Amino acid sequence: MTIRTRFAPSPTGYLHIGGVRTALFNWLLTRRHQGTYVLRIEDTDTERNKPEALQPILDGFRWLGIPWDEGPEVDGPYAPYFQSQRFATYKEAAMRMLASGHAYTDYLTKDQLDSERKAAEVAKKPYIHRGPHRATPADECVRLYAANPTALRLKVPEGRSVVIDDVIRGRVEVQTDTIGDPVILRPDGRPLYNFAAVIDDVAMKITHVIRAAEHLSNTPVQVLVYEALGLPMPTFAHVPVVNEPNSKKKLSKRDMKKFVTADVRAKLRMVGYTDEQIESRDDLNPATVAFYRELGYLPTAIVNYLARLGWSLDDKAEKISMADLIANFSLERVSSAPASFDPDKLYWLAGEYMKELPLEEKVAGCVPFLQRAGLLGASPTPAEIEKLTKIVTAAGDRLKLFSDILTYGRPFLVAKIDYDPKGVEKRLKKAGAADHLRAFAEVLKTAEPFDVPTLDKSLHEYCAAKAIKSGELVHPVRVATTGVEVGVGLFDALAILGRDTVLARIEDALRLA
Ligand code: GLU
Repeated sequence: MTIRTRFAPSPTGYLHIGGVRTALFNWLLTRRHQGTYVLRIEDTDTERNKPEALQPILDGFRWLGIPWDEGPEVDGPYAPYFQSQRFATYKEAAMRMLASGHAYTDYLTKDQLDSERKAAEVAKKPYIHRGPHRATPADECVRLYAANPTALRLKVPEGRSVVIDDVIRGRVEVQTDTIGDPVILRPDGRPLYNFAAVIDDVAMKITHVIRAAEHLSNTPVQVLVYEALGLPMPTFAHVPVVNEPNSKKKLSKRDMKKFVTADVRAKLRMVGYTDEQIESRDDLNPATVAFYRELGYLPTAIVNYLARLGWSLDDKAEKISMADLIANFSLERVSSAPASFDPDKLYWLAGEYMKELPLEEKVAGCVPFLQRAGLLGASPTPAEIEKLTKIVTAAGDRLKLFSDILTYGRPFLVAKIDYDPKGVEKRLKKAGAADHLRAFAEVLKTAEPFDVPTLDKSLHEYCAAKAIKSGELVHPVRVATTGVEVGVGLFDALAILGRDTVLARIEDALRLA
């Protein structure tokens, strides 16, 4: 059997971290078994669809490197499947169900249905709708529909149970007497989710329906649709929810703003977002994939992190390569308990993957961030790239996200640095600092060559001669030449800046000291 899976987002909002995890599980299963993974856009709910939500979904998956494998014929990369292009298929299937007596016409108005619901509420009974035409013969329903199209409902069989053997959740049994007859087709011909999903899962030959746990409650109705149409049933696997860090609350965008800490906010500002945008933009939210992309997380780290969110290789492994994920992924090792989102672990993984990235790719990844911040032009020159390569090399493992280049790179890419007032106070105004800076500048004038080993040696010789600790000179020199107290190694910084800039900046700094 060729395994075929699908991810079926409704384009009603941004790409949620939990949704991507579900998509990833689908994708990994097909990669493991040389199967096919399909992306289906469930856009039949025209009132809730947001056309602008589609592109970020497609871009997000491409960026993460979990592409879908087929779609309707188009030039270039496959388009996904769109339910809105398949109305005729749903109508045809609904007509078959009507003709075979598994569905019936329902002419009740919204008001009538509302009063039914209210009556059930008053009587403190569950509301189980059974329409007046339930017992009407099938050919009569067909005739009624042809004359006056209306909503069609599935005739839920009475007095039995529906059993789902879910790979993750185990056996789930539901009594049909607790399920109201659901609408499968609206009067205007648009299908409802529970119906369209089944028709498509069959048409697309889906063997494994892997989706969010919230859909487990929909599955009994879907099973009844499969039965009504005499169609083969897929394997179901309902993936538990993702909760907020250290909480039993489901990860939701509304509550995620609290994870935009001062540090994260500073990073977002640095990559060019205003406070207003940070507050108002839906996708600048730690529950979205776009958020991590904006901050320069590596997609490989995100994929690794999401794969581990509810799935495990063994009791220990956190960093698992894509090859190992693909070789080992199985639904059997997906936990049935909710997973807990841990932004710190994701950040740690981002750093681990960054360490492994070839230097050239690191540099290329940093470029767009510098361009957006105005620190690099639209087409960087070879000399600029060479300098950037030196900065990235000097930053080493400090660079965990591409946006970190804005912290480590700025002093080298601006003509005039801003001096951090705190650094000036602490390092430059300290007794003796100015004298040592002035004297060490004289040493720097003749240090030859102006490279890391020579600068290192010169500074330590100076300190030894003056009987001061190296810190007493390292810190003032750093603040004087870069404006800030943290950054790449001091000697790397001096070598990258070059003698002239270093001397000019020390002179500027001495005016503040
Ligand atoms: N459109 C549904 C959603 O976005 C898909 C459910 C399914 O995978 O069957 O939740």
